[in-house]
Amino acid sequence: MDEKVTKFICEHMKYDSLLYYAKYYDAVLFQTQKEVSGNYQVVNNLTSSIISNPLVKFTDSKCECRYCKQTKPAVTFKDKVHTFPEFLGNKLFVNKDNECDDCNHFFGDKLEPNLNSFIKALLVVDDINGKGGSKKYKSFNKMGEITHKNGSIEMSVVEGYEMVSDDPVEKKMKIKIDIPKYSLRSAYKAILKMALSILPESEISDFNFAFSCLKNNDIFGCEYIILNYYPGFNIMPFSIMLYKRKNDTVPIPKYQFAVINNNFLLQVPVFSDNDISIIDKNSFSYPKDGIPTIYDKGPLGEVQTSVYRLDQVDIVERHTVELEMNYDSRELHDGSDPVV
Ligand SMILES: [Zn+2]
Repeated sequence: MDEKVTKFICEHMKYDSLLYYAKYYDAVLFQTQKEVSGNYQVVNNLTSSIISNPLVKFTDSKCECRYCKQTKPAVTFKDKVHTFPEFLGNKLFVNKDNECDDCNHFFGDKLEPNLNSFIKALLVVDDINGKGGSKKYKSFNKMGEITHKNGSIEMSVVEGYEMVSDDPVEKKMKIKIDIPKYSLRSAYKAILKMALSILPESEISDFNFAFSCLKNNDIFGCEYIILNYYPGFNIMPFSIMLYKRKNDTVPIPKYQFAVINNNFLLQVPVFSDNDISIIDKNSFSYPKDGIPTIYDKGPLGEVQTSVYRLDQVDIVERHTVELEMNYDSRELHDGSDPVV
């Protein structure tokens, strides 16, 4: 690899992560959903072409559920199945005739609420226009609410509850956000399910463990979630990335999947059955960085990366986080002057 050239290209990326992913992985899918005058279109970033069909359909050659292997009439395929949850901002990516209604409901009821809680703090302050997203947040005690309207955040708080502390001179505020109890494993599996939805059909037979663990509590033991936070607002459009290992003799996950929106990136490894049989859990090395993006060194600061290992924790009890953020201006309304 010519390091000089690489360094020149990646001024806005973290150099170490760029080298790591360029060395070990190839991007096999990288698509971005863009809003153009109120409508959405998808751009294939690998070919720089617009995908003209309004829905991007992931489908298999036969009408069989990838997750439970059942076919009609034992199962139905009637629902519009979103490949990625709408609360993350997905509008156009759907699964067609390869995810049955039962499995779709299972993932929506059992896995996705855990992912929603895992990134709740970001969803509350991000204005992601998706069904079931955080258009409206209520504190546990129901004394505080947060909504988004026309690009601004509105907070209403009952007197006596200190949800927000405000520094009008520095134009900084701190917001308390209540996070429900959730399972980190289930949050991981909600992201893993997205990755398995878009794996090439020819490869799914080598991912039996990954498919089966979606519906039980098993883990292989080397799973993790990478959560990148990019300081600022509306930094990135909704995008998905699938990276495939270049060399099958290297003991790293066969695939890396990432979903991006606004100011976060969620990434998980996807281990094949063969990976699970050859990777030594005791010497497995966890990555320090997510897949590089051109936003890694943004105008408001460098990306902040957290790696959550599934072998160390599963259940996260309900708790409250405090987010600090800058704002441009504020308007105060009292109860007699409702905000419309
Ligand atoms: Zn199914």
